[in-house]
Amino acid sequence: MSESMPGKYDDPWSLALKIHELAEIGSQEFESSRIIMDVLRSRGFSVVDHYMGIPTAFRAEKVIGSGKPVVAFLAEYDALPGIGHACGHNLIASAAVFSGIRAAENVKDGRIIVIGTPDEEGSGQYSGSKIIMAEKGAFDGIDLVLGSHPGDNWSVGEQSLAIQDFDVVFNGYAAHEAGNPEKGRSALNGAILTYDAVNMLRQHVRRDANVVIHGIITEGGSASNVTPERSVLKMGIRSSDPPYLMELTEKFRKIVEGCAIATETTYEIKSGPLFSSTKINPTLSNAIRDILISKGVNVDPLEETWSKMPTGSTDFANVSQVVPSLELSYQIAEKGTPWHSRLSLEAARSEWARKSLRTVIETLSDFARRFTDDPDLRRRIDEDFKKNKK
Ligand SMILES: [Zn+2]
Ligand SMILES: [Zn+2]
Repeated sequence: MSESMPGKYDDPWSLALKIHELAEIGSQEFESSRIIMDVLRSRGFSVVDHYMGIPTAFRAEKVIGSGKPVVAFLAEYDALPGIGHACGHNLIASAAVFSGIRAAENVKDGRIIVIGTPDEEGSGQYSGSKIIMAEKGAFDGIDLVLGSHPGDNWSVGEQSLAIQDFDVVFNGYAAHEAGNPEKGRSALNGAILTYDAVNMLRQHVRRDANVVIHGIITEGGSASNVTPERSVLKMGIRSSDPPYLMELTEKFRKIVEGCAIATETTYEIKSGPLFSSTKINPTLSNAIRDILISKGVNVDPLEETWSKMPTGSTDFANVSQVVPSLELSYQIAEKGTPWHSRLSLEAARSEWARKSLRTVIETLSDFARRFTDDPDLRRRIDEDFKKNKK
């Protein structure tokens, strides 16, 4: 029997465990996406592979009645390099797939879509695939997008930080460090000077904009007696205020230019996709919170969720800018558990995760039913979406 036999991972927990075990990193999730597509096909979804030109992306849909309104569930299934599913994206995949399946069974009129969105963590070529998809119009014609993410609490509609990543390559001139150092131009000096100048920039950033700057130097020469001809600096700049983030990225470009002049090196800046901040939809948050409370879940109050300092970034945010969206955060570990850690790796296949996953699937699919049944709710969600600027 082949691994792809339909029905093999046809329940939420075995699918979540299988993806956890595969632990494929971003843009390389070939087996994970194949298994997920098999499950959806076996449940009567029509599946488009290689969606939007992304090899491990897909779009699966099932039309019920008139095919309107349209609800999409987003699946992530990328692991973190070196450690595995320590962000719990195995659970995100399973939640999206089985929320979609359950919604398609319960909805009376509508279209249920499951979209496979690879490489959320930014490991490969299709880093931040939701951004690529949003720019190419993948979410046009969709009325609601639902997602979920495991963590150490239950909350609806958390904010996220916008982030811009940069890879800066400095090029210098190799020379013997003792024989003719005056001929050498150190690319490493360009990178280090930039790193130090960015540290000075930290002193002069807006305190209310939740600015976070982090960086590493990944290449800095190959022998201590050879002037480094090439050095690579990787930096990420985040803020809860996207226009201010744009100002900071301009400052960063000036710093790089200045440091290259000072070290007589040349440089090339490659910027990654711009992850936006998340647009909150209060009506949506309230409605999903009500369902969770009716199931006895201890959900954070909305004021607490919205006033919390955002700590992470996600490409889900870019989806929230183009269509009413909500990513449900749910608890699979004790409060304060560090994420991307060995503890969260274990949490993502724990009994706690199994129970929470079931609640998430019920909640999201119940909500899809409510959304498709209730035109007034849809109108209010749409009004919130148009009213809120960010
Ligand atoms: Zn993560
Ligand atoms: Zn994650």
